[in-house]
Amino acid sequence: MMRIPSRLCVRWLALFTLGAPALAGLAPAATAAADAVAATGGHAWEAGDSPETLEAWVNAHLKRADAAVARLLAVKGARTVDNTVAAYDEALSALIDTQAQAQVLYGVGATKELRDKAQALTQKASAAATALNLNPAVYKALSAVPRPPDAGVRHYLERTLLEYRLAGVDRDEATRAKIKALQDQITERGLAFERTVHDDVRSILVEPSQLAGLPPDYLATHKPDASGKVKITTDPPDAYPALKFADNEDLRHRLWLVDHQVGYPANTELLRSLLAARQELAHLLGYATWADFAMADQMIGSPAKLAQFLKQVDDAARGPAAREDAALLAFVQQKDPAVKKINAADMRYWQEQYRRAKFNFDSQSVRPYFPYAAVERGVIDTAARLFHVQIKPVTGLKTWHPSVTTYAVYDGATKLGTIYLDMHPREGKDKWFSTSPLNLGVHGRQLPDGALVCNFPGGTAGDPGLMQYGDVVVFLHEFGHLMHHIIGGQNRFAGEGAFNIEGDFIEAPSQMLEEFFHDYGVLTTFAHHYQSGAVLPQELYVRMTRADTYARASDQLRQLMYTAASLDYHTMPPATMNFDQVWQHDFERYNTSAYVSGDHFWASFTHLNGYSSNYYTYVLDKVIALDFFAQFDPKNLIGGPTGMRYRNRVLAPGGSRPAATLVHRFLGRDMNLDAYQRWMLEEFQGTATVSSSAH
Ligand SMILES: [Zn+2]
Repeated sequence: MMRIPSRLCVRWLALFTLGAPALAGLAPAATAAADAVAATGGHAWEAGDSPETLEAWVNAHLKRADAAVARLLAVKGARTVDNTVAAYDEALSALIDTQAQAQVLYGVGATKELRDKAQALTQKASAAATALNLNPAVYKALSAVPRPPDAGVRHYLERTLLEYRLAGVDRDEATRAKIKALQDQITERGLAFERTVHDDVRSILVEPSQLAGLPPDYLATHKPDASGKVKITTDPPDAYPALKFADNEDLRHRLWLVDHQVGYPANTELLRSLLAARQELAHLLGYATWADFAMADQMIGSPAKLAQFLKQVDDAARGPAAREDAALLAFVQQKDPAVKKINAADMRYWQEQYRRAKFNFDSQSVRPYFPYAAVERGVIDTAARLFHVQIKPVTGLKTWHPSVTTYAVYDGATKLGTIYLDMHPREGKDKWFSTSPLNLGVHGRQLPDGALVCNFPGGTAGDPGLMQYGDVVVFLHEFGHLMHHIIGGQNRFAGEGAFNIEGDFIEAPSQMLEEFFHDYGVLTTFAHHYQSGAVLPQELYVRMTRADTYARASDQLRQLMYTAASLDYHTMPPATMNFDQVWQHDFERYNTSAYVSGDHFWASFTHLNGYSSNYYTYVLDKVIALDFFAQFDPKNLIGGPTGMRYRNRVLAPGGSRPAATLVHRFLGRDMNLDAYQRWMLEEFQGTATVSSSAH
């Protein structure tokens, strides 16, 4: 129920902050000329774990890209898909794979030296990708390829040419040099912004007595130090339970505030310079704002069309959200009549208390049914059954850390790819929940593989890793991204892979998979008590599901808040921007709780790097995801034919068709808000029905 959308992310979008419009911009790709390059694929950590081995690996791959470009340019005679698109795809895929792996290591590398080197090499690979997408000779060569009959390849080629034009390839040399310099600045500043957040773990010290309300396993791992105090950090497994369960108001307020000050003030001028570079680039390319530029190649098309869509969402959510918030305030006022507005730092706590009182649902009561290891098996099994694939553990693969687990994905006897799970916090690792490709897929040549980098409970000896309900939903979400990448990575070219679909479709498959959490048949396959082995009782499930309908609408308003902030930061003049003022304005537009002075959340809002102005992606894709989910038979969610149809029509095409085409093929019509509105009206009425499907 509690979502922390600001920390969810698909890392691969960050790959594109350089090449072209920030999202999905760059084209992609990998390889096809069935020649040269034995060095396809592979992993940066296989050769060693020092900064030197990483650098050597990156340089070898950049050379591979250079060689492919040289081959492309050396072609004599007629341009074809085989001699030109294939070579381009190989070059770009070498760059993207390199950048993706350097970026993963920048988040998970074992030492500071390795992370520093990985950050620098991510910039280097990004700069090479930018250079490729501003290379007029490559553009000219691709333009000369006759449009191929294969619809997927044709779409890839046309989209690539569009991205070239958007990136400014047809400008004069001086302008291209300026564009390149700005793109490189954007990457560098964006990475530095994220790095500040990554390195800035804050904490508070509290009295042991202030931990009242927190569950026993939390208390067991939070013992007083020599001075008698308990330390609570801003790491998600530390902070989120405390904000939700601690009865002590002083603890909640202090912790919430330090959590909302991560990155501040260090990121203030860094963010300003990032936004200024984006604005300058947008102006140089003829766009009024960065948002206009960043939406030009997306499903939504423009800020004007986005405004229409957001109005519909606002109309759908505002009424129900107001009812939710009014009920919550009345509930709090029964306990303390002096409260006029709920403090923003107390919202999670009071929502939890409200759910306990009104729905007889204590979210701690289900945690014993969600120990990490069982949830991992359950999420994997659910995805495997739904998408008709087999997902089997693999041993012996070298990874970047001993705690990383690996699985291979099969369709019958055919291997589709490999997944890497790095799921628990550790010193020096980033604090997000994200999915990243490691290698893009090229049919017959390179299997796709990808990683989840998360911060779930567990991972240490003796800790069962009891997860919150919302953690399980996040796991499903990220696994949805991973399945999209693997199943959609089986096309002829890497550039036809899932990651190259319009960026504002990328959160639809992930949010669709979240919905499967609400099915009792699905849950009972893995939700067993970690001590007794008892199945999650149906009666508890019913209370949980009813409680979940509460706060759906206000959660959606929160998404509109992040959407508005990301748009405002990318449309207002950066030089004079007061980040706090903008943030407070957008906060108050979408919340009835009281804004807290000193809230600098924007300083750790890393989506401002990866998604730039386009945070709306989550809201747009929630609408699409619910429309998708409504096509499944609620009585037979997993076992019916819809899962396979979804796999074939939405996931498997990857980026080989426009997203709107995939949506239309699956739904048999364009998307609409009907399912979203039904879902919203279900909320708070407790009308969600219990469904169960075949196991
Ligand atoms: Zn996501």
